[in-house]
Amino acid sequence: QLDWNGKKVTVAGLGVSGIPAARVLHGLGAVVTVVNDGDDERSRAQAADLEAEGITVRLGDGATLPSGTELIVTTPGWRPDKPLFTAAAEAGVEIWGDVELAWRLRGPDAAPWLAVTGTNGKTTTVRMLASILEAAGLRTAAVGNIGVSLLDAVLGEERYDVLAVELSSYQLHWAPSVAAHSAAVLNLAPDHLDWHGSMEAYAADKGRIYEGNRIACVYNVADKATEDLVVEADVEEGCRAIGFTLGTPGPSQLGVVEGILVDRAFVENRQKNAQELAEVSDVQPPAPHNIANALAAAALARAFGVDAKAVRDGLKAFRPDPHRIELVEEVQGVTYVDDSKATNTHAAEASLAAYDPIVWIAGGLAKGATFDELVEKSAKRLRGAVLIGADRALIREALTRHAPEVPVVDLDRTDTGAMSEAVREAARMARPGDTVLLAPACASMDMFTNYNKRGEAFADAVRALAATGDA
Ligand code: ADP
Repeated sequence: QLDWNGKKVTVAGLGVSGIPAARVLHGLGAVVTVVNDGDDERSRAQAADLEAEGITVRLGDGATLPSGTELIVTTPGWRPDKPLFTAAAEAGVEIWGDVELAWRLRGPDAAPWLAVTGTNGKTTTVRMLASILEAAGLRTAAVGNIGVSLLDAVLGEERYDVLAVELSSYQLHWAPSVAAHSAAVLNLAPDHLDWHGSMEAYAADKGRIYEGNRIACVYNVADKATEDLVVEADVEEGCRAIGFTLGTPGPSQLGVVEGILVDRAFVENRQKNAQELAEVSDVQPPAPHNIANALAAAALARAFGVDAKAVRDGLKAFRPDPHRIELVEEVQGVTYVDDSKATNTHAAEASLAAYDPIVWIAGGLAKGATFDELVEKSAKRLRGAVLIGADRALIREALTRHAPEVPVVDLDRTDTGAMSEAVREAARMARPGDTVLLAPACASMDMFTNYNKRGEAFADAVRALAATGDA
């Protein structure tokens, strides 16, 4: 156990992870200074609360390292190239994220972590995993990047047998010593490259999830980059590489045979060389990318010793979260689907592959992405496209290059009301049997507070269309 008494800790960022971290560290006896870039009304109110508890807060100055700092605990979203971190590196000061802090503060008989990362499918997979663990009668929770703080899970009253932990690439970047029981990287595609600096750096941060694994490193057979990360990882002796595939599984793999999810990796009944886990139709929605998520969740649960029946019961009980390929309504023979959570091209590709023909609503903040591959792969299925948001020109140019025959409506708007107009335009293009698909391939913050709000705006417009014939 660390001795926190009198230790000078700088917490970077007032926010959902910074404020609880500051309080916990202060409670342990550390001398805490919170530094924050912003100096607005909200942060002033938060600062006043913390100051009243004896925590120093420096507003409007997130760049300078307070003198004597022995450790930084940062909000995961803060970019590694910030001057604060450059100064810390020069001074030899360690930097932890909220996840690392939770890991270091967990008790001696704390619950092991089954960890999940990947460009897409993390939240879905972690929820599936928690559902399976619950079906097995284990005390568990879905925590981490999913919105439930690991710090709360680790320090709270509730006792767990095992935690299903979602980790983002940012969190992994700042989590140098976390070592899971078992972990999965679901897939790897360019995302957040502006933050990480390069694809190599992004992959390396994702790969951190395998470091120190004890039982299993779960990878995607169809995505060789994930397997490469397993090969490069430094794991405990005896830890196994387990693959998942949508095809027939090889040894040490889970896969699909004639519509049945099967496990050849953890075979209990040695008479048979595969164990049936569940049917494809047990998984909601039974789209290919989601079956892959189910197999990854099953692999982690099986690594923890969960039996096949609980895998099936858990998968059957699982229901997807809103805004993830969610059917909104059918209007005049046209199906409207909300995949607002498709905030990058890799996710949008998965949902565009699931429908045909499609009127595609896309656009928002590109985060440094390019759209050529996505448009090339999906062009055949596009009836038309309606573009909104700040970086829509990037998508329009890709459409011009790879799908010049696809009609495009470019709405020169970034206001919230643009979504109704987008739905109206899409409805005009669509024919009975088509799907109007909101799969923006971009982040939402140029127009909306978050992807939930964007999805709700879409669903509201569709319902208005259904009720009045006008969105
Ligand atoms: P994350 O937590 O990684 O953002 P979610 O489960 O919330 O992942 O899903 C995000 C988006 O990615 C959704 O739009 C969903 O349709 C899509 N998606 C989910 N799983 C996969 C997958 N395995 N491969 C590609 N896209 C996926």
